[in-house]
Amino acid sequence: MIDRKSHIANDLEQPASTRSLAGRLWREYIARYKGRLAIALMAMAAYAASASAIPLGLEWINNALSDAGGAQGPSGADPQTSSARRVLLLGPVLILALGVVNGLAQYIQARLSVGAALSAMRDMQQDMFSQLMALDLAQIRREASGQTISRFTNDPLILRETLTRLARAVGDLKTLLGLCGVMIFYDWVLFVVVVVVYGALAWPIATLGKRLRKGSAQTQAQAGDLAAFVSDAASGAEAIKTYRGEDIMRARAGGVFDERLRLMKRVAYLRALNEPMIFIIGACAMAIVIGIVALRIMDGALDAAQFISFIVALLMLSQPARGLSTLNAVAQEGFAAFERILAVIDARPEIVDPPNAPALDAVQASVAFEDVYFRYGAGEKYALNGMTFTAEAGQTVALVGPSGAGKSTILALLSRLYVPERGAIKINNIDIAGVSLTSLRSHCAYVSQDAFLFDDTIRANIALGDPDADDQKIIVAAKAANAHDFIMASSQGYDTPVGEGGGALSGGQKQRIALARAFLKDSPILLLDEATAALDAQSEARVQEALARISKGRTTIVIAHRLATVRSADKIVVVENGASVEEGPHGALLAADGAYARLYALQFAEKSDQLLTP
Ligand code: ATP
Repeated sequence: MIDRKSHIANDLEQPASTRSLAGRLWREYIARYKGRLAIALMAMAAYAASASAIPLGLEWINNALSDAGGAQGPSGADPQTSSARRVLLLGPVLILALGVVNGLAQYIQARLSVGAALSAMRDMQQDMFSQLMALDLAQIRREASGQTISRFTNDPLILRETLTRLARAVGDLKTLLGLCGVMIFYDWVLFVVVVVVYGALAWPIATLGKRLRKGSAQTQAQAGDLAAFVSDAASGAEAIKTYRGEDIMRARAGGVFDERLRLMKRVAYLRALNEPMIFIIGACAMAIVIGIVALRIMDGALDAAQFISFIVALLMLSQPARGLSTLNAVAQEGFAAFERILAVIDARPEIVDPPNAPALDAVQASVAFEDVYFRYGAGEKYALNGMTFTAEAGQTVALVGPSGAGKSTILALLSRLYVPERGAIKINNIDIAGVSLTSLRSHCAYVSQDAFLFDDTIRANIALGDPDADDQKIIVAAKAANAHDFIMASSQGYDTPVGEGGGALSGGQKQRIALARAFLKDSPILLLDEATAALDAQSEARVQEALARISKGRTTIVIAHRLATVRSADKIVVVENGASVEEGPHGALLAADGAYARLYALQFAEKSDQLLTP
């Protein structure tokens, strides 16, 4: 059994059987469209019947025309004219009728089956996205974003192709059976020869199909790596350019593209081999069959008209047979894609509500970390190493400390984005492990350093804090965050798009929009990772003023990089190696001349000089 609870990539280690995948595909995604598929099946039957009727019609025409060239009929009428007239009257009507039925049936079956396949794809994408949103932060981070994107774009395309081919295969199978019936009707001995010859030659085609499946799975996995690489290169363009890393990136790209070339070539070459191999094998088979046909005619087992119809049926057989012979390869590619899609759909979050978890319901919130230990992975070092500190309700607590000390980890654990290994995190003396996640997260508003914004309007970005808020509330929040004025000065006011990742705004503007969002959320706990990116003095003063306003009456835990925040905080906690080494207000800590005083001298001396200099 595959452990579906493990992270997404693990789920691909043992491929599920094609039969179980097909079963799930049918039950969970296709069965709901069975009405459409039933009509498509009927259309396929009409298609197969009209195709099978062609050799029979041909025999009739053939016989009628050879009669026309024969001796006087028993009726005494001119047989040449009467047979030819019959063909003239009925022949075109027959062919036209068969053609129209065949074409219409093809259209109906293609339309309905493609429609069902596309709808199933939409359902899958919806399920994948819902599940992705439900996963833990750690699970989402473990998966490279390129791989995830590929599961939403490439894999459904491959699966759609497989599903439409599978639908067509049903029609192909019916046609194949119809034509086989026609051939048995003409000469069953010849038919047995055909089955034996074609059966023996199917083996190399199946082997090729297997190799294609493997190659295609590798190509798909690498497509994700490629997407991740290009997305990294685009998002890191600033660093690449400033460090003149273009050549390094080009060289790395060369490696990635070479690998892509190698894998794609292998699949392409195998595909290139597939059709000609089938063609050559088909020619071998036909050569044997023609030889046997000649012998059968010599034995008087069938006549010339029947021979022609038999061969026409055999030739017509090649199209559905080819469709069916490549079906395996296409199906294998599709099932590999479906398996990757299922890996997302089946992934389950590890952090879930305990049974009957009560909701946290606090207007004011005190926060306490009690001897908390946490590490990001089993073999890694502890990011939090017995972290203990408290923040009284309404207090502002500033976390300071060297890079990598564990400050961001503290904020992440408080929102239960990760679970501590030992120790307790309490809000109003209640362990957050026991309360419902939704209620816990509704009590915390988080503003990160990079103040993440969606590619939407300013209004929509603020409204994330409270989707039900009206314009009035949004404006009040923006004013509190010192954002209203610059928003009104933007080209479309609150409807101005912020661009991808908020790219159309400055760092300070982004932070103020994120603060407005937090203000709108109106939660008792505010978690803030101050932007370290140098904001100009004016921008910094505006953010600081907004922060002071927004944090009023809330318990604020801030990773402090700014002097003003540190000085005005009710308490400063100095974090080193995942533990608190000192805590107290600014003045007392400076007087103690310990870790904080050293850090202050180191980190803030330069800036404080700047601030103190008129
Ligand atoms: P900074 O001020 O540079 O942001 P920080 O004090 O906020 O640093 P954290 O980000 O909490 O420090 O990191 C604490 C430790 O955990 C570091 O050693 C870091 O390498 C590690 N760490 C942080 N995030 C992850 C992660 N997602 N996976 C693995 N290790 C991580």
